[in-house]
Amino acid sequence: MGNLKVTFLGTGTSQGIPVIGCDCEVCSSHDSKDKRLRSSVLIRDTESTTQICIDAGTDFRMQMLQNNVKYLDAILITHAHIDHIGGLDEVRSFNYIQQKSIPIYVNMPAYQGIREMFSYVFKAYHYPGVPEFDMRLVADSFRIGTLTIQPVEVLHHKLPVLAYRIGNFAYITDAKTIAEKEKAKLQGVSTLVVNGLRKTEHFSHFTLQEALLLIAEIKPQRAYITHISHYLGLNADVSKELPDNVFLAYDGLTIDA
Ligand SMILES: [Zn+2]
Ligand SMILES: [Zn+2]
Ligand SMILES: [Zn+2]
Repeated sequence: MGNLKVTFLGTGTSQGIPVIGCDCEVCSSHDSKDKRLRSSVLIRDTESTTQICIDAGTDFRMQMLQNNVKYLDAILITHAHIDHIGGLDEVRSFNYIQQKSIPIYVNMPAYQGIREMFSYVFKAYHYPGVPEFDMRLVADSFRIGTLTIQPVEVLHHKLPVLAYRIGNFAYITDAKTIAEKEKAKLQGVSTLVVNGLRKTEHFSHFTLQEALLLIAEIKPQRAYITHISHYLGLNADVSKELPDNVFLAYDGLTIDA
């Protein structure tokens, strides 16, 4: 496994930014960094052709088109909320190009959620053109091409969500709490991506302050905040308030990790 190139395909919370019908200063901002599709990242190994993404939410099709993604070795799912799986039907384009089903990694609650939401995919009779999912339950660390992936369980209120560590890069979204034994799996991470919704309390998401506390505890070299709500404020304003090694992620940002 070489270095990773990680592209933020989306950095917004479930409604995206702008929010439909909202005239707030963030939703009406002309700064492209204030426009956020639903959260997802594309990850490429620089020493091989291995390319995967984490989550396939409502904006998946646009994200694949905007970033000229022509194949995926796998999709890692964090959890089965619509902003993370709503675009899975588009997997059929990759089925067609790659002439195979696409591996989709999940925990048990996400497996059940996907079976429910995409019940037509799991029917015995396969209507032509229906996407083909190769569902794989995640237990411990696993390999995709040249990448070794360590799952880390976080809690989204009470829902177990998978975070993923690949080498010294880790991606956490939709977390509110993390058990100590899972947090231990993040030790030594040099690039950490973590959700930070807004400044005011939320029952199932880290606030910006809670995300900063986790960053201070894990001590990565650098950290990026994602899954951002319009309530957080303008990208340019909030960026000035952050520690030197912490950044707000924005759509289209590519980092070496
Ligand atoms: Zn979400
Ligand atoms: Zn707004
Ligand atoms: Zn969620």
